[in-house]
Amino acid sequence: MSDLSCLVCRSDIEVEAQVTTGEIVECDSCGQEHEVQVESSLISIALAPEIEETWGE
Ligand SMILES: [Zn+2]
Repeated sequence: MSDLSCLVCRSDIEVEAQVTTGEIVECDSCGQEHEVQVESSLISIALAPEIEETWGE
């Protein structure tokens, strides 16, 4: 596992070691979603864009 910090509230976010780029992890504290980026063995996270589900017409 890798320890990262939430970009919003700075809480620790645990990410599995075998996580892959594009996976979404959610902060346990504030619920903010982060998109994982893996370069070599370096894992970083960025704020994930909010997904708007507008299916109903
Ligand atoms: Zn957070």
